[in-house]
Amino acid sequence: MTIMSIPENLRCPKCGSADIAEIIYQPAEMTEELLRLVQAKKVLIRNEPPPANAPRYYCYYCGYEW
Ligand SMILES: [Zn+2]
Repeated sequence: MTIMSIPENLRCPKCGSADIAEIIYQPAEMTEELLRLVQAKKVLIRNEPPPANAPRYYCYYCGYEW
């Protein structure tokens, strides 16, 4: 599992916000690092299998996923 791969300059393609998180589906375990990232709103956990063409990023500002 690769986390913290959000590029520094990544912006929401819809609204331009930098307030975005990487979506992690069904993490194997809640590690301390993962918890820290969730609390920092850098990672969004989804306890469900990734759908087809699962979005990788989530925008907190407008809710757009891509
Ligand atoms: Zn947005």
